[in-house]
Amino acid sequence: MAEKLVAVKGMNDILPPESARWEWLEDIVRTLMARYAYRNIRTPIVEPTSLFVRGLGEVTDIVEKEMYSFEDRLNGEALTLRPENTAGVVRAVAEHAMLYEGGKRLYYMGPMFRHERPQRGRYRQFHQIGAEALGFPGAELDAELILLADALWKALGLKDVQLELNSLGQPEERRLHRAALVAYFEANSDVLDEEARRRLYKNPLRLLDSKNPAMQTMLEAAPRLMDFLGDASLAHFNSVKSILEANNVAFRINPRLVRGMDYYNLTVFEFVTQSLGSQGTICGGGRYDYLIEQIGGKAAPAVGWALGVERVLELIKEQGREMALPVPDAYAVIPESSSLPAVFQVMQVLRSSGISVQMHSGSTLEGMGSMKSQFKKADASGARFALVFGADELAQGCVALKPLRAPAGADKADAQTLHRLDSAAEWAQLLHR
Ligand code: ATP
Ligand code: MG
Repeated sequence: MAEKLVAVKGMNDILPPESARWEWLEDIVRTLMARYAYRNIRTPIVEPTSLFVRGLGEVTDIVEKEMYSFEDRLNGEALTLRPENTAGVVRAVAEHAMLYEGGKRLYYMGPMFRHERPQRGRYRQFHQIGAEALGFPGAELDAELILLADALWKALGLKDVQLELNSLGQPEERRLHRAALVAYFEANSDVLDEEARRRLYKNPLRLLDSKNPAMQTMLEAAPRLMDFLGDASLAHFNSVKSILEANNVAFRINPRLVRGMDYYNLTVFEFVTQSLGSQGTICGGGRYDYLIEQIGGKAAPAVGWALGVERVLELIKEQGREMALPVPDAYAVIPESSSLPAVFQVMQVLRSSGISVQMHSGSTLEGMGSMKSQFKKADASGARFALVFGADELAQGCVALKPLRAPAGADKADAQTLHRLDSAAEWAQLLHR
């Protein structure tokens, strides 16, 4: 036998019925995005490597060790499977001069790729849903995006999600803080791990994002960016906070929250939960007013977030509202294969009037199978009704309807009843649609 091929490690198939939960989440997101007037954008999964190197920063986990990069075999161009999609959206916005007539609110959904150690809530192909508002400098957009995410948790029935907030200030404030930070880390160099030492002078802010338990106490006492913010940055931060407060969105200021990419300034935030173990961040974002310029576009302010779809779905399983799995309205039981042409005519009419019908098909070439085996399949399909297309009944323009699920309260399903096939509207009524 040929060797069995399996999926790449850390990359998952999403199969039914699980895929129905994905579609359900995506539908809720689309509806919500429309309410906030965010429009869908779809950019390529493959981008030039330099987009991420320049956009995210060279000394970041993603660029240093997590990207799937390769050379185009024809022209040697350096390409990368997108590890995130803010850079791609910004590239598209600049490339198409989308801000020419003012700001744009955009959202996306799709797969991202990072070469990380696979574990619960951490995969090599994973999915993000993201929202970005570009061309708006005001704190009201930071607040709008946070309220949008908060509304999504509510729509999904999630309770245990906390918002953490910080401000990374502006480049000049960052420079002052950086000097204080380097001095502090130098004084504590005995506690620094190897990665921290390597990054100390290249990107000291990144050290604050370290997950090494041995460094946590030292990091807690590090100089806070918040203490280096000037009046304008503080005013921006206070505007965000007062909109959140007025709308009862609770938050905790986390002075160590710096995010994993270098492109952020001013507001940064994460939504975290205690219910998912160590992969507890379900959504992260912030302002990135200098990114567009950095990748060669015309300078424009921007703010956005991205959520991890796998983690959100996992959290919904833990505590959220459970959706009903999709089932067909009716299962077509077909005693004789000679009736198939006529049965198809009926099924097509029913389907075009909004009734979902799953057709029986025999497991051998000989025929449709016994009534017993057909009803077994009908039961397993989850359909509420079986439509029994007996040849004699069909010849008289009729089909038998048999309830498969007893209505709540009744102890057994009713026997089958005969119905004329004349009106699709009547059928829709009959099948509770
Ligand atoms: P973490 O600190 O958990 O590594 P991150 O800061 O690298 O997350 P972001 O780049 O901010 O994550 O991505 C936004 C969200 O995407 C995260 O909050 C998380 O929910 C999700 N995410 C990130 N990496 C992965 C992954 N490898 N597998 C599954 N989800 C992920
Ligand atoms: Mg990460």
